[in-house]
Amino acid sequence: MQVASPSAVRTTCPYCGVGCGVVPVADDKGAWHARGDAEHPANFGRLCSKGSALGETLALDDRLLHPMIGDRRVGWDAALDAVATGFARVIARHGPDAVAFYVSGQLLTEDYYVANKLMKGFIGSANIDTNSRLCMASSVAGHKRAFGADVVPGCYEDLDEADLIVLVGSNAAWCHPVLFQRMLRNRAARGARIVNIDPRRTATGDEADLQLSLAGGTDAILFNGLLVDLARRGRIDRAYRRAHRRLRRSAGNGAQRGPTSRRRRWPPACRRRSRTVLRLVAETDRVVTCFSQGVNQSVAGTDKVNAIINCHLATGRIGRPGTGPLSLTGQPNAMGGREVGGLANQLAAHGLRRASRRSGPALLAGAADGNTEGLKAVDMFEAVADGRIKALWVIATNPVVSLPRADAVRAGLERLELFVVSDNVARADTVALAPIRLPACGWGEKDGTVTNSERRISRQRAFLPPPGEARPDWWIVCEVAKRLGHGDAFAFQSPAEIFAEHAALSAFENAGSRAFDLGAPGRGLERRLRRPGAVPVAAGRSAPAAQPPRFFASGGFFTRTAAGASCRSGAADPSRSPDAHIRSV
Ligand code: SF4
Repeated sequence: MQVASPSAVRTTCPYCGVGCGVVPVADDKGAWHARGDAEHPANFGRLCSKGSALGETLALDDRLLHPMIGDRRVGWDAALDAVATGFARVIARHGPDAVAFYVSGQLLTEDYYVANKLMKGFIGSANIDTNSRLCMASSVAGHKRAFGADVVPGCYEDLDEADLIVLVGSNAAWCHPVLFQRMLRNRAARGARIVNIDPRRTATGDEADLQLSLAGGTDAILFNGLLVDLARRGRIDRAYRRAHRRLRRSAGNGAQRGPTSRRRRWPPACRRRSRTVLRLVAETDRVVTCFSQGVNQSVAGTDKVNAIINCHLATGRIGRPGTGPLSLTGQPNAMGGREVGGLANQLAAHGLRRASRRSGPALLAGAADGNTEGLKAVDMFEAVADGRIKALWVIATNPVVSLPRADAVRAGLERLELFVVSDNVARADTVALAPIRLPACGWGEKDGTVTNSERRISRQRAFLPPPGEARPDWWIVCEVAKRLGHGDAFAFQSPAEIFAEHAALSAFENAGSRAFDLGAPGRGLERRLRRPGAVPVAAGRSAPAAQPPRFFASGGFFTRTAAGASCRSGAADPSRSPDAHIRSV
């Protein structure tokens, strides 16, 4: 692998969905330190304590450095042959749905892409799911229900331009610190107010202008009540509603419910504060609502997401500077996984249609059809436990620790016919259980792309050589695919080649029908993404925009109609609106 000169490397922090740019710098003793990339638009040179300490993660003490089968160190050929032979044997005996991949929002987009392509396109099952399911699935479903596509409508600049920032179920001070500092700077510079809605006392609440400590699970009640209150105060944007009929259904869902008796049972201080929140939201045009795992990780997470989005749709506070709902993703590449269809109920490129798959772009030639919904994370491990899944490959995640019912997960893994893990650490709980362990590259050795919470794609660039026999995740997946007989479709020599295919797929039969469009193929990854850029890319162009375009200021939803997906036009800010370059269908 070619390693760029350290002084020239600009890469991305691997910890959270803010996606801060990092410049690794070596001191005169050879120790690495992370500095913020002053030119990266996600952080403008700032890093939080986690990003600043990235250099401390580069030691090799805990690394998995060689392929292992049981206690034996083996060569790559022996390990890859064992993986491919094991999967082929299980598929031949029990069918493709007896195997599964469990992957991760810590993967780069190119790693994610080839794993998804192998399982859904060539093994012929949809049993690939990701640990991002645990934190983001309800947000994905809420966005699709509201907009017809998994599209985050706003961008980080909105945090600079809002007059009121409402945080819901989000301890951004700890979990998205660089963005939270951005909110505080807006308050200092422009007087923006910050409201924190969370049952817990957190560092975010300590900094907020108003802390509203609702009873757990009542946030949907608050936002449905807010919708009713906005209507009572005459704050519904009737012109927006009239122009965009889709809104009527979205907003109507929430408006029918309204506050319930549970709200009346809130303590008096809470009721008083909730009235203040309602008044602030009603009186402020530029409102951004940021939400995170406190909303997403709930049995009613999708409804909560929609209750929040409905308030923005009803007031037309969306797609304009300083307005809109903003889902803060936890993992560094949860969004990239959403783009490549890393969930068991998604297809690549924001839902490439089945018809498109049949019509057969060259890059999907040979792909199996009949792809139905696969097993989602928790269901997948139940299927492992009851023997329906007989071969599992876990890539870059630790389900023995992170999934519910850990003992049952562990017991199921021990019964598998074939259990493979690729990871960069040697001693994680899940790694310790796997008979076949494949050493993967770590952050400083990886090359590819990640997408942050505002749809901005940034490069991760290697600045260290892989230690021992570690290899990139995309390479490991491709080598197994070749051994399963799919060499032509996985003959990638670099992440740039994978990105090129991913980009071509995003543009295939798109014409504005899908928000995710990386533009015209033809330029290399380095030229295309020399600097971080955001999707969608203007028609006919191959380089992403410097600033993420905003969505839905003038409708343009991706909701399917009898005639197919619709994208309607007209925007308050045509230079920044995707409507300016979404082509009509
Ligand atoms: S805010 Fe997130 S992406 Fe930025 S430095 Fe901290 S952990 Fe890394």
